[in-house]
Amino acid sequence: MYHAEFMSKPILIDPLKFAREGRSLSGQVPVGELDERVRSDLADTSGEVRYQLDGFRDELQRLSLRIRLTAALQVTCQRCLDGMPFSLTTDSVVTLFTNQDKLEEACDLDDALDAILAPEELDATALIEDEIIMGLPHSPKHDECGRDTLSLAKADKPNPFAVLAALKRPKSE
Ligand SMILES: [Zn+2]
Repeated sequence: MYHAEFMSKPILIDPLKFAREGRSLSGQVPVGELDERVRSDLADTSGEVRYQLDGFRDELQRLSLRIRLTAALQVTCQRCLDGMPFSLTTDSVVTLFTNQDKLEEACDLDDALDAILAPEELDATALIEDEIIMGLPHSPKHDECGRDTLSLAKADKPNPFAVLAALKRPKSE
């Protein structure tokens, strides 16, 4: 049983059971209530992360969790250090194992595999936080920092047609 009214609290699931029974869970977590390791990467902590968690068996019949996130976040521009909007969308699968040897064997066969030893109880909030951290850009930058001041500066430049005319003039002489 889940207590949807306490979304900022840990979202505890039994991952194996969740996957075996093909359960789904969705909701929203306020960004401001996520762990410090996520918040420290953001320019501000407004907004919410929408999540969708689905349990299933993959093509090899392995119990798995699919986790999808969408969030409108504010990251910090690494050039001007102002905030910039970043639209986060992630879609990942975590494959569950109950045996360390099998997990390692599977990871050796598939570099892209995201595998965990399934605990009896898993906090889905931690999964969500991991996904956000992995989904954030490493060095976000505005296309044009402080665009307002930049367009004012541009307006002071000579008319481009006047510049063009000046360039053409020597050739005609
Ligand atoms: Zn910037």
